[in-house]
Amino acid sequence: RNYRSRTECRGDIQRLNSSFLAIYESLIPPEEEKEKQKQLMALLDKHVTKEWPGAKLFLYGSCANSFGFRKSDIDVCLAIGDADIDKAEILLKLADILKSDNLENVQALTRARVPIVKLMDPTTGISCDICVNNLLAVINTKLLRDYSKIDVRLRQLAFIIKHWAKSRGVNETYQGTLSSYAYVLMCIHFLQMRTPSILPCLQEMEATYKINVDNVECCYFDQVDKLEGFGSRNGESIAQLVWAFFNYWAHSHDYANDVISIRSGSLVSKRAKDWTRRIGNDRHLICIEDPFEVSHDLGRVVDKRSIRVLREEFERAAEIMQYDPNPCVKLFEPY
Ligand code: ATP
Ligand code: MG
Repeated sequence: RNYRSRTECRGDIQRLNSSFLAIYESLIPPEEEKEKQKQLMALLDKHVTKEWPGAKLFLYGSCANSFGFRKSDIDVCLAIGDADIDKAEILLKLADILKSDNLENVQALTRARVPIVKLMDPTTGISCDICVNNLLAVINTKLLRDYSKIDVRLRQLAFIIKHWAKSRGVNETYQGTLSSYAYVLMCIHFLQMRTPSILPCLQEMEATYKINVDNVECCYFDQVDKLEGFGSRNGESIAQLVWAFFNYWAHSHDYANDVISIRSGSLVSKRAKDWTRRIGNDRHLICIEDPFEVSHDLGRVVDKRSIRVLREEFERAAEIMQYDPNPCVKLFEPY
């Protein structure tokens, strides 16, 4: 099929761009939400530093990586210097402390894959998950945020892809589909691979930010204000990028052999990573390398059934982008 037909032969690309931008704008959190988050963080900080004077709280996840929608829950990491602490004990203590304040549904989930305290703050209406010493997540949050400052099309594309994934039910790791974090990595990689590229590979550039966390050396170029205009040689619009993104994952990606890697800004072979066969529960049916924990495949949650669901959804989306006169209706149709 000639996948350029929409762009070249149809006069509606401009209208489609406006529709995507309108969706993007409607999902951006308003300023007052940021204020409420700060208010809740200040309250949590007060309790935490009283009990653990050396501890610090960090926001991570979508509330801090710039890829969060309005009315999102917030993810908080409690950093306690000591690496040998018993996380469960800390979380139970934290839950006790917070229960005594005006917070609702305070619950310590100590047996979860990532143990947390959950709570709801009735003053701001914000729900929040607090984990302990998950510093790599804080660092990868910064990496994603830094990438988003380089070219606005990343944020626009990622919002559209996340919105699509949530509408179509393929943003559920417990059902074997991908996390929001994985989708954002897919978008970054995709924009690194455009010609000319829209994003650089920050981890291949001179490191201006270096930190060792959990024995992982995290370093990259983080002076992103110096990269303003990096992608301007590429004039692709958001509609073209959404179309090409789905087309790539529907028809071009080599699922059998390739790993996407934002760390290297290129494709890496599954063979080189020894990701060619199933080991334990890691099937490597779609391979997305974590930028810092490079032995970690974000696609590890995907199984034989859910890879079919995912690929059918990519194909459906590519088909809609190609042929539907008004793609925005069908693309985001609830599944
Ligand atoms: P949403 O808007 O759907 O809540 P989110 O950005 O908060 O999206 P999640 O997938 O819930 O995304 O993950 C929250 C954060 O936890 C991510 O931003 C990332 O920092 C970290 N994270 C999630 N999954 C992983 C993972 N498998 N490996 C490393 N870090 C992860
Ligand atoms: Mg989240």
